[in-house]
Amino acid sequence: MTDAFQQGLRLTIHSLQQMKKDGTTHVRLSTDLLKELSSVASTSPVPPAQKAVPSAPRSAAAPVPTKVEPTIPEFELLKQRALTCQLCPHLAATRTHVVFGEGSLSAQLMFVGEAPGIEEDLKGAPFIGRSGQLLTKMIQAMGLSRNQVYIANVVKCRPHLPQGVTGNRPPTEEEVAHCQPYLFSQIDLIKPQVIVALGERASHVLSGYKNDTSAGFRGSWKEFRGIPLMPTFSPSYLLDQDGPSGILEKRKAWEDLLAVMEKLRLPISQKQRSFFLTPS
Ligand code: SF4
Repeated sequence: MTDAFQQGLRLTIHSLQQMKKDGTTHVRLSTDLLKELSSVASTSPVPPAQKAVPSAPRSAAAPVPTKVEPTIPEFELLKQRALTCQLCPHLAATRTHVVFGEGSLSAQLMFVGEAPGIEEDLKGAPFIGRSGQLLTKMIQAMGLSRNQVYIANVVKCRPHLPQGVTGNRPPTEEEVAHCQPYLFSQIDLIKPQVIVALGERASHVLSGYKNDTSAGFRGSWKEFRGIPLMPTFSPSYLLDQDGPSGILEKRKAWEDLLAVMEKLRLPISQKQRSFFLTPS
């Protein structure tokens, strides 16, 4: 067993102890992980990450340090909890898949939407329908790819509709309250440098601001636990906007993403700066 893996297992044990303190009584683990946990638990229950490590001073011009990727056991444990979660029995009974999230665990940029739709529920991956295709284009327009970022939703199971009713519905306050700790833990483990909230609901959940109007919720920096948060329009809203006003809305969303690129110090070409601007 490598040192890194052993450290990850110790952190997992620490997370389990924390969950027990928080009232969790049962967690489903794979047999392999259980074996590894028992062997490491007998050596040291204290995660080395808690020890103070002096850090070297950084000059203003120093590059952003490489992030330490969350260990597989920590993230896997969280994912396994979500995949077997029954906190919303009506959603657990009707879902095809729990849509936990996907992307790089060392992502500097994280996108957060509201909840999975029918296609995401069927495939178990976030943002893969028409909205997902638009989100992919937005990410590519920033000069990135989907596997360089992390994409997740506030609610991990598709909000169900009565049989015979098509479409999607927004999650209820109760569903959001049950599920948001998974998202918050994902963010705590990934530690992105910037989060983009796709749509009003994701923005409200992450920023805590509930008084913005629909038209005004986007475009200004907020924070989630000290991480800069940029709320912007959801891809599904943008898909519904046609004609010249639709171009204007897309330009607003693109300006939000330009601000994100600046915050991340990504290179921005003149062509990128002028997307959705009508030539004068
Ligand atoms: S929506 Fe979230 S809290 Fe509710 S059952 Fe699914 S994973 Fe659990």
